[in-house]
Parts: sequence; structure tokens; C-alpha cells
Amino acid sequence: MLRRLLAWADKVAALGLLLGGLTDSRPQPRIVTRVVVRSLLVMVLTRLGSLNAVEQTHGSAFWRRFLQRPLPSADTLGRVASRMDPEPVRAALRDLYSCLKRHKALPPPWHGLIALVLDGHESHATENRLCPECLERTIHTSHGEHIQYYHRHVTVMLLTGDFPLLLDAEPQKPGEDEIATALRLLARVLKNFPRAFDVVLGDALYTDPRFYNFVLDHGKDALTVLKNENRDLMVDARALFEIHTPQRFTEGSTTREVWDLQGLLSWPQVQQPVRVVRSRETTTCRRQLDGQRQSQEADWVWATTLSVHRASTRAVVDLGHARWKIENRGFNETTNRWAADHVYKHHPIAILVFTLMTMLAFNLFYAFYRRNLKPAYRSRHDAQHVARCLASELYQGLAESRAPPP
Ligand SMILES: [Zn+2]
Repeated sequence: MLRRLLAWADKVAALGLLLGGLTDSRPQPRIVTRVVVRSLLVMVLTRLGSLNAVEQTHGSAFWRRFLQRPLPSADTLGRVASRMDPEPVRAALRDLYSCLKRHKALPPPWHGLIALVLDGHESHATENRLCPECLERTIHTSHGEHIQYYHRHVTVMLLTGDFPLLLDAEPQKPGEDEIATALRLLARVLKNFPRAFDVVLGDALYTDPRFYNFVLDHGKDALTVLKNENRDLMVDARALFEIHTPQRFTEGSTTREVWDLQGLLSWPQVQQPVRVVRSRETTTCRRQLDGQRQSQEADWVWATTLSVHRASTRAVVDLGHARWKIENRGFNETTNRWAADHVYKHHPIAILVFTLMTMLAFNLFYAFYRRNLKPAYRSRHDAQHVARCLASELYQGLAESRAPPP
């Protein structure tokens, strides 16, 4: 399965060419960067989770065939990653997207709008400064206060009608806020994926005029969670909710009362009037414990620049909820199942390279699972099963007596 996935990746996304073109800044690299990159890609694809775990598979027959030379040591893998240029990994992400698009593997959702979701994510925190790019904050406890160091990046995920794709990530720099990082990332995403998406989604933090005006200036729409009770827009919207009659939708076990207010002028910092949509939702379900029916209520409010001609009320509600996919699929899944938060090597370039490599592995895995494996096979084997098959191939024929890695 692993060899099949890598052969497919080579064919569809010209990964071999891209990975072969990678270089690093070492003056006289003893081990070709290509070997290191191929080793790292397999490490993230098989979700081994650490450089030491991959080093322990050095006797595997898989490496001899795949690398045509011994697997580099954990030290070498980490050292080379900290001197690599991350751009070719971004190019591989772009190449895979283009290939899937060309093969019509990225259909839009029912409403026809493809969304890009932005979100910040903190990978880890420590009590010691370990590199010059560590961000810092003061933690107040009952024993006093201390400085904590951490890394944070903004990620973008594309929501197609089939499976989500992680497109790019940008580290937050010391002294800047998340919106500044996000705009730098968006500028690159607009250049690399200009026609990939229609609307950009964000949480309440992104209900910020810098973000809205930037998105509008580039011909896209914005949709974000509206929360701030003090904001004039929210105050005016709340007053209008009182006098407007909501529409009602029922989908499965969820009933929604939805207010859709267009052309609001109460946010003059944004260059055009905005639309506010509120969804008050009741979902009924049966409790597993005693089989009793119980209902859960939620109240969502979103601000958006999408016009009614581009997005119906139902489409705005659907897009608003779709933002959660970056939390569930993007962060929870990559953290819990792909070891995305593991600090393989504490170096700002290595942290970025491992983040981008994990995104590439995530996309390759799901594109392979959804597009290469037959539906009949998928109906009997879930993605977790396929992931375990990939890892098991590294352990086949593992001999204890192999020579140590260089
Ligand atoms: Zn650091």
C-alpha cells in the first residue's frame, strides 16, 4: 500500500521531480537532500511521530528499495530539515492541488462556493526560550508570574465538496498579531491558488476590518463569526432580530430559525455594507445512557460580504458551520493522528518544514484514499485501516543485524 501510494504520488503530482529539486543550505551535503526529504515524507505519511521512531526502522527492506541507500540518522534528518528551503514543499502542495483540479477531483459543495478557512494554531509551549523565533507571553499563577515561550502558525484549508485540502501555513513572528500573519499568508495563497476559492472563512478574531478589506480588494468574499457584543454592527443586528420574523429550516434532527439581514451600514471601517445571518438551532438526539430524548440549543451569528445572489441564506449557514472543519479535520486530526504538534527539531525552519510536510502527507493520503482506492475497498476498509497498513510496511522484514545508520 505504501509503495503504491508513493508511486501514485510520483505519477499524479510529479512529486519525484519536485522532491528531487529540493536543496538545503549546507555547503557540502554528504547525504543528498532528496534522500532526507523522501525519508521525511515517508515518516509523516506513516505517522511514526518522531525522528527516533523512523531511525529504528533503518533495517527495513522498504528503505533499501525506496532510497537506494541507507536511511539517514535521526540527527541528520533533523539537521537537514532545519536548513531546508520550505518553498519546494509549498510547490509540491500547489502541484498536488493543480493535479487534483485537472482531474476534476475537487467538486464544489451543493451551493457552488468553495471556501478557504483560516485559523491560527499553537503547536507547543515551553518554559525556556529555545530559538530566536519563539513567541513569548506572561503567565500569571497563584505563585507569581513567569514567561512562557511558544510557536504559533496560521493554516489555510480548502473545503471542497469531497475532502478538505491543507494548502499552506505561515509562522507568526515575534511582535505581530494573528491577523498580520494571516494577511501575509493570504497574499501568498492568492498568488499560488488564485482561482481555487470564492470565500474566506474565519472565527470571531477575523471580524476585523483589515481582514475584510484585504479579502474584498482581492475579489473574494469574507464570512466570519460575529461575537463582540459592543460592536455597533452586533448592537444594530440584535435590534433588527427583534422585529424581523425568522425563516425556519429543518435538516435531519436540527431545526433552525434563521434571520438574514442585508446591507447593514453599521461597520463603516469595511468598504461595503455587510450582511448578518443568525441561526438559532435546536438539535434533538437520544441519550446513549438511558435512551431519553434531549435537545441541544445553539445560537450562531455570522457577518459576511456574500450577496444574496451568490449565497442563499441556507448557503451562508452551511458555510458558517463548515468553518469547524479546520478545527476537526485540520487541527484535531493532524494533532491526534498525524503528530503535527510534535517538535521534531526545535528550529524555526524545521518546525515550518515539518508542518508543511505533514500537510502534504495529509493531502496525499486523502487524495489517494478517496481517488485511487476503489469504492468497494473503501466500503470495507476505513482510512484508519489504510493508515495502519502504510506503517506496517516499514516494519516488514525488519532485521536486527543491520549496520547502524551513518
Ligand atoms: Zn522557538
